[in-house]
Amino acid sequence: MHNNNKELTLSAPLSGPVLTLGKVPDAVFASGAMGDGIAIDPLNDTLYSPCAGVIIHVARTAHAVTVRADNGAEILLHLGLDTVELNGAGFSMLVSENQRVSLGQPLLRYDQDQVGQRCKSLVSLLILTNSHDFQVRPITLKAVKVGEPLLHIVARNGSVASVEASAGPEVRGQVRVAHRGGLHARPAALVRQTAQGFNSQSRLHFADKSAPCNSLIGLMGLAIGEQDEVQVSCQGADAEAALQALLSALATTLPDDHHAKAPVSTAPLKHPAEAGVLHGVCAAPGLVAAPLFRLNAISLPADAGNHDPAQQQSMLDAALNAVRSDIAATLAQAKKHNNADEESIFAAHMALLEDPALLDAAQQLITQGRAATHAWSQSIDAQCDMLQGTGSALLAERANDLRDLKQRVLRALLGKAWHYDVPAGAIVAAHELTPSDLLQLSAQGVAGLCMAEGGATSHVAILARGKGLPCLVALGSALLDQAQDQPVVLDADGGRLELTPTAERLADVQQAQIERQQRREAQQARAHLPAETRNGVAIEVVANVASSSEAAEAFANGADGVGLLRTEFLFVDRQTAPDVEEQRRAYQAVLDAMGDKSVIIRTIDVGGDKQLDYLPLPAEANPVLGLRGIRLGQARPEILDQQLRALLQVRPLRRCRILLPMVTEVDELLQIRQQVDALCVELNITERPEIGVMIEVPAAALQAEQLAEHADFLSIGTNDLSQYTLAMDRDHAGLAARVDALHPALLRLIAMTCAGAAVHKRWVGVCGALASDPLATPVLIGLGVTELSVSPVQIGEIKDRVRQLHEAECQRLSHDLLKLGSAAAVRHACQQHWPLP
Ligand code: PEP
Ligand code: MG
Repeated sequence: MHNNNKELTLSAPLSGPVLTLGKVPDAVFASGAMGDGIAIDPLNDTLYSPCAGVIIHVARTAHAVTVRADNGAEILLHLGLDTVELNGAGFSMLVSENQRVSLGQPLLRYDQDQVGQRCKSLVSLLILTNSHDFQVRPITLKAVKVGEPLLHIVARNGSVASVEASAGPEVRGQVRVAHRGGLHARPAALVRQTAQGFNSQSRLHFADKSAPCNSLIGLMGLAIGEQDEVQVSCQGADAEAALQALLSALATTLPDDHHAKAPVSTAPLKHPAEAGVLHGVCAAPGLVAAPLFRLNAISLPADAGNHDPAQQQSMLDAALNAVRSDIAATLAQAKKHNNADEESIFAAHMALLEDPALLDAAQQLITQGRAATHAWSQSIDAQCDMLQGTGSALLAERANDLRDLKQRVLRALLGKAWHYDVPAGAIVAAHELTPSDLLQLSAQGVAGLCMAEGGATSHVAILARGKGLPCLVALGSALLDQAQDQPVVLDADGGRLELTPTAERLADVQQAQIERQQRREAQQARAHLPAETRNGVAIEVVANVASSSEAAEAFANGADGVGLLRTEFLFVDRQTAPDVEEQRRAYQAVLDAMGDKSVIIRTIDVGGDKQLDYLPLPAEANPVLGLRGIRLGQARPEILDQQLRALLQVRPLRRCRILLPMVTEVDELLQIRQQVDALCVELNITERPEIGVMIEVPAAALQAEQLAEHADFLSIGTNDLSQYTLAMDRDHAGLAARVDALHPALLRLIAMTCAGAAVHKRWVGVCGALASDPLATPVLIGLGVTELSVSPVQIGEIKDRVRQLHEAECQRLSHDLLKLGSAAAVRHACQQHWPLP
């Protein structure tokens, strides 16, 4: 096999089945936070070198070893998970640091029985720890034997060793940056991610400066503003493709633009001095009165500067890993709850934690004998100073994201529990809060936030608006001199923090708070009543849930039923499939949580990008167009068979409706009907549950009439229907703003679905995210939808919206919307016809 500086083929260091990192039962490795790589579930007892090179690190506990290949790639070989805890028992290291090794040389041996019994898993990892310099391309995902080709690594742009990768002519292009507010963290992360998809070296040039596209901080440091013209240069074999991709990443706006457009003031207004009042900038609106609670940042003692670098580096690495795994967990939660803001913010934090500029600076300070705490702190401070020195207000605000990571890593290093004890209902005052602080404070039920510094377009501001927490920023350092527990009024809309409110003022604001609360309660009380339009058309407002606890929340909020139970929760993140009884209990728990209301349970919709450890499927070139939804049920019938058995055994069966995902043709439905019939006979069940079909691919919408002939109901999944109709990945960061289900093409498919269903007198629901958008409520009702499955917290709001509408007017106006040219035009028209409060 031919290896050179540019490409290197690594041979299997172990024999056994190969797993992608995503399937490794360890959050840090699985998230890729340690670097790209691959895993093997080993069947042999010796780990061999995957390439020729030098041993640069041997774990004290002999469970891991790092080899530097001759092209500079650093490959960590880690045997088993959590094996560090065995403290070397069962392992014997066969090599030592600085030793040269040849391809296939034995590196370490372990006792399979002893280690296997005592560790979490023997799954072993091959991780490219300098992934920012190299890219990994698996050769096989099947079982391998020691020495067989396992994966290619290719030098990326910017790599010291990528001599050949960067050979070839340089191409350059010019583009105007479309990102609102310029190239701040998230757009920079998009640029970095794009660049990493290519081998070429890419740089961004602006004014008289330039930065490699693989450094987030470098990119932000260029202080590129919205509409600034920049140059991109790429050099390498795929330079032309990299250039085009980067130009388009720079010219595409990110989905957070609507936040930037939020009606908040962005600069402190000049206020006449007013005794007892601090003036700031509104980052999230609201008016609350409560005691002030001050939060202080961590301060470090002086550092003698004579520490052992190896020890400090490993402490820093451990702390970084701990923070990465925390962020990975936050990301997983955000993804689960479809919270795009949270996801993009914390994805940028994850990218910042990998930033070479930051890690190299810290490492250098550690080499000079600094403590890990101080090295980390200083390297962050230096980058913050750099961002603040750019003169861009937006980039200066991004320094807050770096300070967030500073605090988090410091807490991990100092072993401080990352937890505040803030009384519920307090107004929190801090120098500056960070996104992760905000998530925690919001969960603790604080009433409002105020900061001495910060900006209205910061990530904290976006999150505060999302959580409905009034928030003032840029109040000045006087904020930090205020007494703990002092009663204050936070008038975020007015940009004022009233420090000495009169008893009367406090009472007025508290009264207003009570009234708001009462309005919410009144809405909540009405939430339990059926929702009818002004002319008496009943619309069922049901909930999308993913567990019995969410079902209980939906029931308490007034849901008329469950419109979509995503059953994937039972199948993912585990090593074996749930059996029939476990499934039956889980589905029964959801039915039990819903009183006498019906529950629509969707059969498993995995495959595509959602893989199950115990259901290995071949890697697919286009997973979303592959074996997913009902297609997986056909390919692996035992999974669907077990699920149907469990569903048929819930009681009362009439309250359980079965929904089939990703149906594209009538035969798929007929087949499942037959299978349900056969199972009912086998289980001695005389009743038959209703069976519905999800309309989430255009083929299903176009065939709605044919499907409705055999289905009991249709439920439109607007999330996938948008993706497949618009040919835009629903998770694509750069396209998210355009994946809008109010696109007229989608509305035509919805209209067609309703018309097809009406032929057979079937009802149509919507269970995609469009149902939770109050702007869309009149349109959906106008097109003939009679059930809206929304997020549990929005039941009351959507029911109220329904009650304001008249069906005939909705019908007349919504059919006109089909003729419009874009989703934006539809949104505009909806706002005109049916303004939101
Ligand atoms: C949809 O596609 O709209 C839908 C409701 O299903 P999911 O989001 O689970 O793919
Ligand atoms: Mg779907």
